[in-house]
Amino acid sequence: MQKISILGATGSIGKNTIDVLRRHPKLFSVYALTANNNIELLLQQARLCSPEYVVIADPKQFKQAKKLFSEHQLTCEVLAGHAALAQVACAPEVDVVMAAIVGAAGLLPTLAAVKAGKKVLLANKESLVMSGDLFIQAANQYNAQVLPIDSEHNAIFQCLPTDFKYGELCSSGISKIFLTGSGGPFLTSPLSELQHVTPDQACAHPNWDMGRKISVDSATMMNKGLEFIEARWLFGLQASDIQVVLHPQSIIHSMVQYIDGSVLAQMGNPDMRTPIAHALAFPERIESGVSPLDFSQLANFTFAEPEAERYPNLILAMQASNAGQYATTTLNAANEVAVDAFLQGQIGFMQIAQVNEECLQQTSPHNLDTIEAVLESDKSARRLSMNIIGNLSQPAMQRVGS
Ligand code: NAD
Ligand code: MG
Repeated sequence: MQKISILGATGSIGKNTIDVLRRHPKLFSVYALTANNNIELLLQQARLCSPEYVVIADPKQFKQAKKLFSEHQLTCEVLAGHAALAQVACAPEVDVVMAAIVGAAGLLPTLAAVKAGKKVLLANKESLVMSGDLFIQAANQYNAQVLPIDSEHNAIFQCLPTDFKYGELCSSGISKIFLTGSGGPFLTSPLSELQHVTPDQACAHPNWDMGRKISVDSATMMNKGLEFIEARWLFGLQASDIQVVLHPQSIIHSMVQYIDGSVLAQMGNPDMRTPIAHALAFPERIESGVSPLDFSQLANFTFAEPEAERYPNLILAMQASNAGQYATTTLNAANEVAVDAFLQGQIGFMQIAQVNEECLQQTSPHNLDTIEAVLESDKSARRLSMNIIGNLSQPAMQRVGS
């Protein structure tokens, strides 16, 4: 029986994780569930999973949460605040941590799990994008097992040889990694229309049902850019080892090409319960609830190259990956601020990339060799991005509101 803490239980990945866990009550028990502020959903989930702890990250919600849990006679302990997230991630009783908080808020609790040597199921790609080398060094130093939940990285992991050594593609006979992406909801929209798209249109992903931030990132392909950076850190890849390929059907989740011409692809319906179940049970396999592929329904299986003009964020992320840690940390922070501003109707869709680019341009290279330096860099990029958003031309903002 494995004990698991789910960081970000009330989100899309968190809910899918609970769905898989409930299919296997003899294999897993829940130690902790965490949420930012959705107390009602956390309560429902606690009823289903009987955790020992629940954590509300927002300390302002603590009293309300405590009251609600005691009214419903739930015996789990209610904690609040960011230190409590780290506490349930590194508790000695915990075997597995699902890192599924969205954005930079996931960095410290995910790192706490890594430094406690846990089996870490990594959905929170932003933590790796922000802290790359420090994250991987900590995983090695503390013997943490980091298993990718992102469907592409989970697919690559499944297609690599079992004895694959970090960064050593040649000795495994690998010639290329194909990172696939759907291209999002605006794959074929006229470019001139993109500046007018609304948050709801951007969040309506054709194949995946996800949280709003990653949905917008998928529409701009910043998600693929973050995944490019994530893949480099997870597997020790050079930029030239990876090719991003558009595959609008989202059935192939990524591929590994070998020097003999073989290409191994991992396929399945676009449902995050597959990578979640894979990582939870690894190296075994367990049932996930995902319906099997029906090949008679897969008439169209297409591939294309992403257009730079349509997806400037993808290009920015690849450039940042080459520029180094300061640039990826800055880009991640700028993007979180810009996506939030877009979701609030403050900037237009194409201005997300503009904010990101300006923030990168205005940031001088600096060393990030401690987590404190990473957090400081994240903070100053957020301040800078907010200033950039404040200075964006009024007409563009009016157009969004109209
Ligand atoms: P979501 O928005 O649906 O859920 C986010 C979770 O994080 C919620 O439980 C929320 O309460 C919590 N949270 C938000 N802000 C917080 C804060 N400041 N402090 C503490 N907790 C906070 O997001 P999601 O779609 O589940 O994505 C979660 C992570 O998984 C992201 O990093 C995303 O990139 C990654 N991911 C998601 C998918 C997917 O299909 N949804 C696929 C691949 C990777
Ligand atoms: Mg992904």
